[in-house]
Amino acid sequence: MAFITISPDWHWNGTLAQRAYTDYIVLHHAEASTCTARQVDEWHKSNGWSGIGYHFFVRKDGRIYRGRPLDKQGAHVSGMNNCSIGICAEGKYSTETMPDAQKKAICQLLVYLKDNYYPNAKIVGHKEIGSSDCPGRNYPLEDIKQNYRAYAGGEVDEVTKAEFEKLVERVNEIGNDITALEGKVGKKNEVYNYIDKNMPEWAKPTI
Ligand SMILES: [Zn+2]
Repeated sequence: MAFITISPDWHWNGTLAQRAYTDYIVLHHAEASTCTARQVDEWHKSNGWSGIGYHFFVRKDGRIYRGRPLDKQGAHVSGMNNCSIGICAEGKYSTETMPDAQKKAICQLLVYLKDNYYPNAKIVGHKEIGSSDCPGRNYPLEDIKQNYRAYAGGEVDEVTKAEFEKLVERVNEIGNDITALEGKVGKKNEVYNYIDKNMPEWAKPTI
């Protein structure tokens, strides 16, 4: 899938901590109708933080900016920064309606993150794991959570045998029967859906 991100040359204040886990991908809005990644970085620095607290910032026109490096802790959801990455959307979705270009970009980003890095991370809105109204009542939260693959364009990436075996290993680790996976090499989505559906309750991230 065509997937492009913009990586500004950020200057962090201090050293960013490594993140221990990635149980959640947390969706936010900026609560500002128009703003740039650079402005968010300035706002967060003025809070005394190291710099932009999100891992990604998505403009209304669909441009995706990288913020904190993927393996570092963000500053976007109190008490949960050690187990989550944050995606912020430009806009004030307590009152505005999200443009299609931005919605599609967020969905492509979710597919990219789920397929390449965090197949088992749960997609949540900030308000679901923190005390906040974020990302606003007009943010299409449930729609994106349920349909992000369709909005991303529906592409299915091929999975290599080595990747598949790694996934099977992961399924084994969590104690599932893997016979249902036989014959599914090449269909990454099917494998991930299988893993998501068959993960035992104890292994699921809790809210
Ligand atoms: Zn938020």
